[in-house]
Amino acid sequence: MKVKVVTVGCPKNTVDSEQALYLMQTAGLAQVDDLKQADIVLINTCAFIESAREESIEAILDAAAAVSQTGASLWVTGCMVSRYKDELTKALPEVDAFVGLKDWNGLRQLLAEKGKELPAFALRASERQVPYGRILLTPPWSAYLRIADGCDNRCSYCAIPVIRGGYASRPFELLLDEAEGLVAGGVREIILIAQDSTRYGIDIYGKRRLSELILALGNIRGLEWIRLMYAHPASLDDELIEIVAAAPRVCRYLEIPLQHSHPDILLSMRRPSASRQTLDKLQKLRRLNPYATLRSTFIVGYPTERKEHYLHLRKFLREVAFDRAGFFIYSPEEGTPAYNMRPRVRMSTALRRQERLMELQADISADISARLIGREIDVLIEDRKREGLIGRGHRDAPEIDGAVYLTGQAQIGSLARARVTHAGPHDLYGIIV
Ligand code: SF4
Repeated sequence: MKVKVVTVGCPKNTVDSEQALYLMQTAGLAQVDDLKQADIVLINTCAFIESAREESIEAILDAAAAVSQTGASLWVTGCMVSRYKDELTKALPEVDAFVGLKDWNGLRQLLAEKGKELPAFALRASERQVPYGRILLTPPWSAYLRIADGCDNRCSYCAIPVIRGGYASRPFELLLDEAEGLVAGGVREIILIAQDSTRYGIDIYGKRRLSELILALGNIRGLEWIRLMYAHPASLDDELIEIVAAAPRVCRYLEIPLQHSHPDILLSMRRPSASRQTLDKLQKLRRLNPYATLRSTFIVGYPTERKEHYLHLRKFLREVAFDRAGFFIYSPEEGTPAYNMRPRVRMSTALRRQERLMELQADISADISARLIGREIDVLIEDRKREGLIGRGHRDAPEIDGAVYLTGQAQIGSLARARVTHAGPHDLYGIIV
C-alpha cells in the first residue's frame, strides 16, 4: 500500500507531515512522489490566513480529481481540520476522512480500517514524551527541529493559539537526541523552529534555554549550520545576540517577526513595542557582526492603520535596514480580537502600501547585498543546473529567502567556499574558490 502526503503551509506543518509519514511507514505504507500511484493521499492543510486556506482547498480539490480516477482514499488533516471540521465535512463530500491536527489515534483508526496497524508508541505520541520519528520531506542535508509547539502570546490578529494550543517546549535532551539522529543520517543544517522560539524552556524549566540549546547543538560532530527562526522580540536577550554573531556553526542570521513599528498599532496588536531596547539588540548584532543577516516580517493594512502609521513603518525600515523583510496583507481571522476592529483598511490601499514597502525593501536589500561583492562566503550546494550550481548561504533560509548561483564544481549537499561577484536584492552570484 502506498501513500502520498501533500503539505500546505509553514515548516511547522512540514514537521507534522514528516511525523505522519513516519507513522504510516511504520504501519507498512510506502511513500510515493506521484499522487496517481498512491492508495492513500493525505493532505496536510494550513488555516493560518485566508490565502493559506485557499491553497489548502485547492490542494484538496486537485487531489480529489486525481483520486476519482485512481480510486485511492483521500484523507485530510492539519490546522484547517482542527478549526473547520464540520464546515469541511459538509462542503467536501469527496474527502473520505478528516483527521485532526496530530490526532495520531485518529490516524491509527483509519489505518486499521485499511488493515494496517500503527505501533503502540504512536498512541502516546505526545511531543513532550516521545522522541518522534520522522521521514524528512526536506533535502537530506537540511532538517527542521521543532523545539516547541503552540503559543502563549495572544497577538490580536492570530488564530494560532486557538488552533495549536498553548506553548509546549520539547525536552532539551530529546531535542539533542533527535538532532544527533538527524546528523547521523546526513543532515548538515538544522533549522530551529517554533511559533516563538526565544521562549523555549520557560514552560517546562521555568527559564529560557534557547541559547544553551544552540550551544549544545554546536557540539554535535558533523553538524555544520544551526539556523534560528521565529525569534520573538519580547524575549530576545544579549546572550542570544552574541551567539548569532559569533558562536561556531551558528548561521549569522536572525529572523525576528516585528509585524509593525508604530507603537499604537503594536499596542493594538498586543505585540511588544519595537522599543529602543529591541532596536539596540538588533544594532548590537550589526556591531558585533556587520555581515549578520537580519530578517523580519510585517503586517500591512491592519485595522486602524492610517497613513501616518504606514509612513512610520517606512521610516523604521530605512532606519534599521533589515537585510530581508516580508510584508503580508492583514487577514481577518474569526474568533480573534482584531476581527471586529474597525475601521478596516481598504484592500486596494493595503495592496498599494504592500507594493511600496516591497519596493523600498528591495532597494535596502540591494544596497546591503552589494556590500558582499568581493567577499568569500560558505554555500550549501543544493542543485545543479546547466548554467551552474545553486546553493544557499547563511543569509538564505530555505523556501523563504534567496539563493546563491555559482560557477565551478562542488557536490550536491556539500559546503563550498565561494567568492561573490554580483549581487541582486535577494540572490547572490559567484564562483567557487
Ligand atoms: S507570537 Fe503572536 S503571531 Fe506568533 S503564533 Fe503566537 S499569537 Fe500568533
